[in-house]
Amino acid sequence: MKYFISKLTILVISLVFFNFITAQQKPEYVIVIHGGAGVITKKNMTPEKEAAYKQKLNEALETGQKMLKKGGTATETVIAVIKIMENSPLFNAGKGAVFTHDGKNELDASIMDGKTLNAGAVAGVTDVKNPITLAYAVMTKSKHVMLSSKGASQFAKEQGIEIVDPSYFYTENRWKSLQKVLENEKKAEKEKHGTVGCVVLDKYGNLAAGTSTGGMTNKQYGRIGDSPIIGAGTYADNATCAVSCTGHGEFFIRYVVAYSVSALMKYKGLSLQDAGNEIINKTLKDVGGEGGLISVDKDGNIAMPFNTPGMFRGYIKSTGEKEVLIYRD
Ligand code: ASP
Repeated sequence: MKYFISKLTILVISLVFFNFITAQQKPEYVIVIHGGAGVITKKNMTPEKEAAYKQKLNEALETGQKMLKKGGTATETVIAVIKIMENSPLFNAGKGAVFTHDGKNELDASIMDGKTLNAGAVAGVTDVKNPITLAYAVMTKSKHVMLSSKGASQFAKEQGIEIVDPSYFYTENRWKSLQKVLENEKKAEKEKHGTVGCVVLDKYGNLAAGTSTGGMTNKQYGRIGDSPIIGAGTYADNATCAVSCTGHGEFFIRYVVAYSVSALMKYKGLSLQDAGNEIINKTLKDVGGEGGLISVDKDGNIAMPFNTPGMFRGYIKSTGEKEVLIYRD
């Protein structure tokens, strides 16, 4: 009996020790994604819709994981993962982009490489199938950081990036949302969003972030949100973290949200979790700025704070941890 108890004690101690060690270990790679934050509740979701969202988020994570396992880089993984969500009508990016006040689709996207601090962004594009690939081309093949509307489209053609007829972005769902909002302009603020984003830590210790969106339903006058603005909707720096935001863009621009997370870590020594909470659940909440963000730091810690009822989100780590979540609880 005594022998049995001591064996059991050794087993328990080694299990606790093993868990402690794996919890402390820096993961080789990490992917965190979002598919937008907003009024996303169980009440306004059908089981079929919920399953479809989860399936797409899982597909995006697993595709990214395969790439990182094989030694893929953070930036190429961000692009591949975001493309999957851009090609799905479920999200407000690429195929599923929302409509402007004038019944058009104007897409924004950005990407940032945390190793070099290089960045690329596009705003107001109407005929590029995958705005995230164009943002990457701006970063790697142009002298500029941000291109907009017609010029961005011309650059895309010159780079051989896939162009589609603007009618490609028509989806009945988004069209109906615009009609609903037009009937009652005040509802615009309550519309759920659906932007997509991805942040990655790769095997080489490099961070990258990307964001892609159709913007906000009923936007006017060539409005551009935070998503293509480096520092507002997207930011990555190997010294701190990678961040992609989603929510009411005007607030994210004014409070320079993505960069603020990095700055709070760099200059105030806050943890990733505390920095994200500070800006999303204090600063933005106090002024009515709705939304959230996903983030990963240089050590592979993740944080996904949001101040809305829900945010489509998920992560996968080399350590085997994986989750796909929608609601607050
Ligand atoms: N942040 C995006 C924008 O304001 C919208 C969103 O994330 O839902 O354009």
